[in-house]
Amino acid sequence: EDLGSDVEPDISDDEAVEADLLGGLDIETTEEIDIPDRLVDQVIGQDHARDVVQKAAKQRRHVMMIGTPGTGKSMLAKAMSELLPKEDLQDVLVYHNPDDGNEPKVRTVPAGKGEQIIEAHKEEARKRNQMRSFLMWVIIAIVVGYALLIATRPLLGILAAGVIYLAFRYGSRGNDAMIPNLLVNHADQTTAPFEDATGAHAGALLGDVRHDPFQSGGMETPSHDRVEPGAIHKASKGVLFVDEINTLDIRSQQKLMTAIQEGEFSITGQSERSSGAMVQTEPVPCDFIMIAAGNMDAMENMHPALRSRIKGYGYEVYMDDTIDDTPEMRRKYTRFIAQEVEKDGRLPHFDEDAVEEVILEAQRRSGRKDHLTLKLRDLGGLVRVAGDIARAANKDQTEREDVLQAKRRSRSIEQQVADDYIERRKDYELTVNQGEVVGRVNGLAVMGEDSGIVLPVMAEVTPSQGPGEVIATGQLKEMAMEAVQNVSAIIKKFSDEDITERDVHIQFVQAGQQGVDGDSASITVATAVISALEDIPVAQDLAMTGSLSVRGDVLPVGGVTHKIEAAAKAGLDRVIIPAANEDDVMIEEEYEEQIEIIPVSHISEVLEVALEGEAEKDSLVDRLKNITGSALERQVGR
Ligand code: ADP
Repeated sequence: EDLGSDVEPDISDDEAVEADLLGGLDIETTEEIDIPDRLVDQVIGQDHARDVVQKAAKQRRHVMMIGTPGTGKSMLAKAMSELLPKEDLQDVLVYHNPDDGNEPKVRTVPAGKGEQIIEAHKEEARKRNQMRSFLMWVIIAIVVGYALLIATRPLLGILAAGVIYLAFRYGSRGNDAMIPNLLVNHADQTTAPFEDATGAHAGALLGDVRHDPFQSGGMETPSHDRVEPGAIHKASKGVLFVDEINTLDIRSQQKLMTAIQEGEFSITGQSERSSGAMVQTEPVPCDFIMIAAGNMDAMENMHPALRSRIKGYGYEVYMDDTIDDTPEMRRKYTRFIAQEVEKDGRLPHFDEDAVEEVILEAQRRSGRKDHLTLKLRDLGGLVRVAGDIARAANKDQTEREDVLQAKRRSRSIEQQVADDYIERRKDYELTVNQGEVVGRVNGLAVMGEDSGIVLPVMAEVTPSQGPGEVIATGQLKEMAMEAVQNVSAIIKKFSDEDITERDVHIQFVQAGQQGVDGDSASITVATAVISALEDIPVAQDLAMTGSLSVRGDVLPVGGVTHKIEAAAKAGLDRVIIPAANEDDVMIEEEYEEQIEIIPVSHISEVLEVALEGEAEKDSLVDRLKNITGSALERQVGR
């Protein structure tokens, strides 16, 4: 099976290829790169989904694609339509039914034939019309002549007017009713159809019959002429793509299922009180292949019968978010840039340095060591912004500095909010980035997907009247409770203090921000609680992120790169991260100098770094701090 022309390296030395950001391509600009003709060969990564699409096209099976937006689902669906035979395409005509005007007749003919039929009907109507208007004028002439002759008799004048009116009415009505409605026209189609019905309302999906305000009296539009096709009909013999399938209302999902089962679906007016609702056509063919897409929870909210229909008669695939960073992939990413530039049509091609910068960004955005991001819609956005910047400067090529500027400019909404928030906090001096404070720790959180913020946590421990309580507020409450539970297990092990007899108050300073994910703040909460309990201050030039196990191990978290960058932006000097995340760090060069990264694997190491001043001999902190060495040994010995 030919999966597309792979881009071959230009240099042969393996090590050099390995080290090269372009995977061994020796090009001046992306203009030199060949772009495959077929869309399916332009898809980067997603090998599994691509195989499935090719197989499903041969076998005419439905496909369910689950995955992150912008990873190529609709691109693959469109690619599938290119793989289907176009010979099967049909035009659909709707005819007036003389026996029952509300039940128009449906006929299918080979693609291209529909237009001819309509033309023939129009020609015939034109001739008939000429004949009719000739006759009409003859009648009018006779009547008017006669009326002039006997002008003294007004009654005859009225009669003449009546005859003229009837002649007009008959003439104008007869010819429309005869011309069929070309519902689906594939005359100029070069591939099988691809219909994107994402977010379509019932009418757009299933077809509709327009309302007619004049339902009688000779002014009405005949019902067959008011019939409109749905995406399911236009997609017949091709691909129907529905993203966010779960947002489709249940009734539409049900009808979609019927359409899939029957391969044909009558069109009726979708709004109940309209005159269109009285009309129902004969069944219209809708023999499409369905590609349903969505994210994970799309599957849960999807009509179960529809899901099992697709599952039973097709494939389900999961889209990858990242892919291994290999020389071959880097070459493909270079081709990706060429593809996006060609697709846009106006951008200057990228020179080698600019390509390198985009590939570095693909590494960074993957958030994983030795991976590249497959969120290629966003990366394509970066390519377009960079190209636009170069174009605005009248450059022949897009250069590295354009990409760097684009990165600054194409910040996500979350990133912009986060930056704005950091600025505002600086104004009000809400960010504490020096000195030491008891019970206060600079935590780190992620907003949206790609922006970090400093999220300070304050803890206070007070004697409790009854059984101890954890008092936390806001959306991060559950996380705080869990963190306190874990830390109390650790405390129990190392001291006589029983934290369950105290009230622990946790406050996330300024956590009112929407979309803050504090899941990874448990070492922050633990440190704040221990500091408050033991009355030992915490260094404020420091931020931290990490998850905590009951045994005191610091577990890996997501978004470390963004978090570290946020800490640096807030003016902090040091940041604690889980050792297991060390390889995920891909911060921008400018931050590397600004901040010291301290990887840790146990809470004792966190305390060692974060707590200022000498702990009392044999106190909880002293004991915890003292196990640092053994914790490290354990780590190495593992
Ligand atoms: P989805 O349907 O998953 O949200 P799309 O298929 O609409 O994503 O992707 C949007 C655009 O991003 C595509 O038109 C293409 O330019 C680019 N793109 C996304 N994924 C890929 C991929 N795997 N290979 C090449 N280009 C891609």
